[in-house]
Amino acid sequence: MASGPRVTVSVTANEEAIESEVLDLPLDAHLHTDLSPDADVPIDVYGALAAARGIAELAITDHVDFERGAPAYDYATFEQRERTVREAAERWGPHGVTIRFGVELTYDRSWEGEIRDHLARHHYDFTIGSVHDRVDSPYGARRVAAWVGGRSLAEIVAPSFDEVAAAARSGLFDTIGHIDVVKRYLWPHVTPDQLARAPELYDPILHALVESGTALEVNTSGLRHHVQETYPSAAIVARFRELGGRRVTVGSDAHRAHQFAFSLADGYAYAVAAGFDALTFGRGGRSLAIPDRFVR
Ligand SMILES: [Zn+2]
Ligand SMILES: [Zn+2]
Repeated sequence: MASGPRVTVSVTANEEAIESEVLDLPLDAHLHTDLSPDADVPIDVYGALAAARGIAELAITDHVDFERGAPAYDYATFEQRERTVREAAERWGPHGVTIRFGVELTYDRSWEGEIRDHLARHHYDFTIGSVHDRVDSPYGARRVAAWVGGRSLAEIVAPSFDEVAAAARSGLFDTIGHIDVVKRYLWPHVTPDQLARAPELYDPILHALVESGTALEVNTSGLRHHVQETYPSAAIVARFRELGGRRVTVGSDAHRAHQFAFSLADGYAYAVAAGFDALTFGRGGRSLAIPDRFVR
């Protein structure tokens, strides 16, 4: 994409500023504030960045974990998160920024019932279901090399991909976050190129998304990680479309102010290249047109 005009936005009280590009995009659907244990961004910083950079709509998707002892198990209450987002939405609406109350729920089949209960009792504007690295997972920094040794690629990714497919089949979520973030944990023992040569490994996940009507997320955070590609890659976004996928969303998964909307335009471009002309966003699946300039 051609570079647009640049703007400078103050992001802290002591005048720390970020200079960045005006993007003029309809949505960043995956953002963490300081109400996530691994993020440090006050919500008004996102409001200011969105107003300055031309992002019309944001989903605040702070973490909620269901495993006792996990970092986001009881980090912030539902009421605290909802109040924070709703109040910010009132402050930023007049500046042309719509802020939605979303959530990123860590999924595992062993606590699917608790997620179902949580969603029955609490209303969100947008829900992401994501599989994250569990404490006892084979992908931990000290275990991953041993896990990869002597196993086929299918066997290596199975603990993660099987869980992601189950999340998609559950039908509980509007979208599934970063479906192949496992490539981050596997790098450099398994490279993105190796995974790219076995796209069929993704098919159970992609079919489950299609059949449950769940959106695929194009998560651009991978472009700032060693893997240097989105979760999932452009080729997998295209494969999803070919297999019947009709719902896609795009998010930067920012945890720091400078990560806001990071490489977001690449995510839009991949969706368009795959054949999508709109994003699907929110409970019930509202359609948001992708700007014409992305259409080849
Ligand atoms: Zn996540
Ligand atoms: Zn996230």
